[in-house]
Amino acid sequence: MTEAKITDAEWEVMRVVWAQGETTSNDVYTILNEKMQWKKNTIKTLLGRLAEKEMLATKPSGNKFIYYPLIEERRSLQDLSDELLTKVCSRKVGQVVEQLIQGSVLSFADIEQLEQLLQEKKQSAVEQVPCNCIPGQCQCHLIERKGVE
Ligand SMILES: [Zn+2]
Repeated sequence: MTEAKITDAEWEVMRVVWAQGETTSNDVYTILNEKMQWKKNTIKTLLGRLAEKEMLATKPSGNKFIYYPLIEERRSLQDLSDELLTKVCSRKVGQVVEQLIQGSVLSFADIEQLEQLLQEKKQSAVEQVPCNCIPGQCQCHLIERKGVE
């Protein structure tokens, strides 16, 4: 992961920038107004921070500034899921994925793709996923120790 982490508020703004391709702070304000009720200055601050983090860039156009994304949405979604998975014991990742699927509305195409992916995953599946935590941050070590005694 090369780019800096972005906050939830910055993510809201980035979604608009990704969807619009090119946008102005006024457009972002109008689009987000219903959902966030942020002041125009807040939007400008958020856009400025995103520029500092090199998530987007800006160029002058007439008397206003155009904002456009520097980082693809796909790459950020990848980082987002990577980040999510570093927050749990690797043995619980299966559970997290299960919950994600459980809580999602999926199309037939999505499900077909998932089924195919799971079939492929079966080829490289392991008996037990190794724990990646430090002792004390999950219960794997406790259980292993008990098993030894
Ligand atoms: Zn663990």
